[in-house]
Parts: sequence; C-alpha cells; structure tokens
Amino acid sequence: MYWEKEVETMSQDRLEALQLTRLKETLKRAKESPYYEKVFDEIGFDPDKVDSLKDMENIPFTTKEDLREHWPYGFLAVSRDELVRMHSSSGTTGRATVVFHTAKDIEGWTNLVARSMYMTGMRKTDVFQNMMTYGLFTGGLGFHYGAEKIGALVIPAGAGNSKRQIQLMRDFGTTAVHIIPSYAFHLSDVFKEVNLDPERDIKVRIAFLGAEPHSEKMREKIEEIYGFKAYNSYGLSEMNGPGVAFECACQDGMHIWEDNFLVEIIDPDTLKPVPDGEEGELVLTTLVREGMPLLRYRTKDLTRIIPGPCECGRTHKRIGRIKGRTDDMMILKGVNIFPVQIEKKLMEIPGVGTNFLIVLEKEGFNDKMIVKVEVQKEFFSGNLMQLETLRHHIAEELKGDILITPKVELVEAGGLPKSEGKAVRVIDNRKD
Ligand code: AMP
Ligand code: ZN
Repeated sequence: MYWEKEVETMSQDRLEALQLTRLKETLKRAKESPYYEKVFDEIGFDPDKVDSLKDMENIPFTTKEDLREHWPYGFLAVSRDELVRMHSSSGTTGRATVVFHTAKDIEGWTNLVARSMYMTGMRKTDVFQNMMTYGLFTGGLGFHYGAEKIGALVIPAGAGNSKRQIQLMRDFGTTAVHIIPSYAFHLSDVFKEVNLDPERDIKVRIAFLGAEPHSEKMREKIEEIYGFKAYNSYGLSEMNGPGVAFECACQDGMHIWEDNFLVEIIDPDTLKPVPDGEEGELVLTTLVREGMPLLRYRTKDLTRIIPGPCECGRTHKRIGRIKGRTDDMMILKGVNIFPVQIEKKLMEIPGVGTNFLIVLEKEGFNDKMIVKVEVQKEFFSGNLMQLETLRHHIAEELKGDILITPKVELVEAGGLPKSEGKAVRVIDNRKD
C-alpha cells in the first residue's frame, strides 16, 4: 500500500505548517554548504530568524549556472562519506550538473516515486518494464526503486533495443511501462514491423510518460495506439529526478509533492511571482534533502498552477503540462515559438506520422523554419497531388498557430532520425 493518505490530503494550512518546519531545517542544513554559507553571509541572512514561508523571498534564486560554477562539490551540505549516490542531468545544454544523495535522500526519493505510481493505480501485482536509460540519468534507477518499493516485479530493460522490449513485454506479461513519449511512437512502428498490434498483443495497462514535453494530443494518440492509460511524470535531476510532479487517475494536471518541495512560479523576465493559473517559470526548493539542499532553484521549465481542487481528493497543487524550457524557445521574426506548439498541431492532422524535426536556417537577413514531418507510407505510393495538398495543408495549419509560414518537407515514415533518449526536436543552423 503506498497511499500516504494523511500527507497527500492534508489541508493547505497544515501543509504550510509542515513546509515551514521543514524549510527551517533545510535552511540550517544549507548553511553547511560552502555555496549557501557564502550567499547567506553576503545578504546577512540568519536561518534561525525565519518564521514564515514568505521569508524565502529574501534568498536569491539558485540557477543551473550556479551549480556549474560550484561544480562538483560546492553545494554539498554533508561530508563526502555520508553520500551513497550521484546522478546528473542529461546535459542537453552545456556541462551536466551533478546531484548527490545520502541514504536517507534515496529513501525519500524512492517513496515519492512509489507514491506517484501508486496514485495511478499501479500495484504489487503489476509487472513493470522500465524502458529508460539506467545510469547517471535519473529516469532509470529512480523509477526502478519506486516500483520495487510498491512490490511490483521490475524488468530493468533499459532504453532501446526495441525488438527485445516487445519480446520482454510478451514473454513476461508486462502490465506497466515507463517510456519516453517520442520513443513510444518509434516502438509502435517496430510493432508493425514484426506484425504485432500493441493493443491486441501485449497486456500493458499503465504507462508513465516523462522526460520530455508532449502535448495532450500526443498522449491521446499514444493511448489510442497501445490501448493503455498514460500518465504524465515530471521531474528533473536537480530535484532528485522523477517523482516531483505526477498525474493522478484524473489525468488533469500533475500533483506537485508540496511536502517535499516548496513551489513558486515566477515571470522569467521580472522574476516576480505570477498569480495561480498564469504561466511562468517553475522555481523549487527542496524541503527534505540532506546531501544537497537547493533553494529557489530556477528549473527553466514553463508551466502554470491549475487553480482549484482535484477530484481525487489530494490537496497538493497541480501544475499543467510543461510547455518547454525557457531555452527551448525559438524566436523567429519576433514571434516566440516552442517546439511543443508545432508538435500539437501536427498531431491533429490525420495521416501525419509521429516524428518531426524543426530546422532553423538563415536566409540573407531572414530566419527560415523548415519543418520536416514524417507521414504515413500510403501517401508516398499515392499520387503526387495528394502529397502536395497535404504539404500545403500542414503549412497552413502551422501558420494559423505560430503566425509564420514554415517550409514543410514530407518524409516517409521512419525517415527522420530517432533517439532512444529525449528527442532532439530542433536543429538551429542560424549561428555562424
Ligand atoms: P534531466 O534533469 O536531465 O532529467 O532533465 C529534466 C528536464 O526534462 C526537465 O527540467 C524538463 O525540462 C524535462 N522534463 C522532464 N519530465 C518532463 C515532462 N513530463 N514533461 C515535459 N518536460 C519534462
Ligand atoms: Zn488528483
């Protein structure tokens, strides 16, 4: 049983009181790290004087750059021999950042993942196949330990090797999987290749989709192909990894575990808080971590708080789908565009495949966007007019949303590069 009813349904007042107690402990612990000791010194901040959550406003934000500058041990709040594990970010932008954990940190993280999976209906009777990279990336071991805690039978399949993934699912009757959304599409093509139908030939009933932005439409498409329920799972290595925010059975936003994290949403330009419901950058403070507490960490992820209570009865706030990272934003002819906006539109067009790639080029003084889209094989065996009509239709649909007309190139299904980890959606050739 992993339903921590008391803490998951705590009233907002009690939750805030718990957060304050934990925050005070965290601040004292943080002061033990070389980085925060210096920060507290510089601003004359005394953790012993904190008596409200609002006092946090006096502490400066911590950024990925701060983590890099004080790499690797500048944020450690315990001695090295207290540590039992390290993980790192996927390092898609610059040097990967590292996070260190004590035994208690690992236990706390494991409980969060177990709580999250249990919330969706996963039980000890499930066979859980983890299709994420094991290693420094947190999606492998994080989910692995959480699922074991629930008591499920865990298949540590790791990423890639699609035919073997399918074989494992069939041989051992996998009922729950953890998978990157773009890989779920690729895997469905491999099912076709081996003449199997994911809906009919496997028993998976629950999927955890995480690690990269994906639209509601993409979730629906994946659910349709496989015939399972897919739940959004959000986390980042700096906050342990998975188990930061997770969808409940209502599938309407992700509960962010406020007994473990203090949540703020700020305007990334003014750095001021935005009201609930409005989009901004997610800022998190760890409330229980011992090895490496992080205060007001700017995740760069854009989301919003979904106002109002959730039907499941849990009181922890919900965040909406992640729109992308502030550094994923493309600016073309003065328009701000996120890859997920393009993905969402493409998913709505019948006949369009599931993989795409955005290429940005410089043409004279102008920026040009080329959207390469995979389409079903049938289009290529049909007449050219049909293909041209589809191409035109995609360009028009995209223009309606992103306001600029991209050049659309159609590629036969399977023709674009695929990745076993997070998908690379944008290639920017504009820089000299
Ligand atoms: P890493 O620290 O390498 O595991 O990467 C964490 C980042 O992956 C987050 O900051 C997000 O940008 C992205 N991410 C993780 N889970 C999701 C999700 N469910 N939806 C959208 N983006 C996600
Ligand atoms: Zn809920």
